[in-house]
Amino acid sequence: MTDGILKQIAQYRAEISSFQPADAADVEEYRIKFLGSKGIVKSLFAEMKSVPPERRKEFGLILNEFKQLAESRYLSFQELAVADKSAEQVSEDLSLPAEPHRLGARHPISLVRKRIVSVFERIGFSIAEGPEIEDDWHNFSALNMTADHPARDMQDTFYISQHPDWVLRTHTSSVQVRAMEQQALPIRIICPGRVYRNETISARAHCFFHQVEGLYIDKDVSFADLKQTLYYFTREMFGEDIRIRFRPSYFPFTEPSAEMDISCLICGGEGCNVCKHTGWVEILGCGMTHPRLLENCGIDSHAYTGFAFGMGIERITMLKYQIRDLRMFSENDVRFLQQFEGL
Ligand SMILES: [Zn+2]
Repeated sequence: MTDGILKQIAQYRAEISSFQPADAADVEEYRIKFLGSKGIVKSLFAEMKSVPPERRKEFGLILNEFKQLAESRYLSFQELAVADKSAEQVSEDLSLPAEPHRLGARHPISLVRKRIVSVFERIGFSIAEGPEIEDDWHNFSALNMTADHPARDMQDTFYISQHPDWVLRTHTSSVQVRAMEQQALPIRIICPGRVYRNETISARAHCFFHQVEGLYIDKDVSFADLKQTLYYFTREMFGEDIRIRFRPSYFPFTEPSAEMDISCLICGGEGCNVCKHTGWVEILGCGMTHPRLLENCGIDSHAYTGFAFGMGIERITMLKYQIRDLRMFSENDVRFLQQFEGL
């Protein structure tokens, strides 16, 4: 009986020694067969009680050796499997191209706003900001647009129904008023920001858009300073070859007022659809700060003068990148936005 078991163990040893698992399933099958709770090792130990006492020591030694062999083989199969797996992973990593990190793109409005601001920062303008929900005083009255002033009709305004004195600001001029009320003179600021008008949305108009306004107040500021500042800006923004012209205009908060045109970027002044065959496109409004506006904000209009200008960022962006429809800026179409990657 005992010799039969020993013979059996010798066969198992041979089987274990020649066993070569092909995959993890084979290894698991091996574990269940030899080391499982109903496996061969367990059942051989159960045979111990049928071994005569004088042979138990010999039998026990052989059985223990067999158990160790079965276990050590199992451990080596496991290590091989782990090594195989990690070798696979390493070769996978090395053969594949690196996972690309997509950085995205700046929105064209942000690109142009940043550019405009940096041009003015170089000549000493600093950024000023204000609230997008404004009171009547800062958005209209202080800017020479009293309640009955017809100029209010030039801007279709969103009013806040819960508070009759509040509006969504229709221009960033309100930031100029706040700066004049609060800052020490001289003032040299640039005010970029979002503004709101109750307009029908179309290719050329939207209910919100972005402006950059500038304000310079000091002693002896003249219209020549205004023109030179805007000449400098236009050349920096659009290049040395650009031509500009001023046309007389009207704004309630400046006197005299002008609108500034640049030579058409598309046709170079020859005439095309964009410039309506005039060779010129309007890009901003400007003028000398109205004396009453200075007085409204507590500045002595006999001692100080100033100039202000304002432009729509959308308009400049459309000209610069030849975008025909204003609505594309807020549609979030990635095909549109991807074209600005790397700029
Ligand atoms: Zn043109």
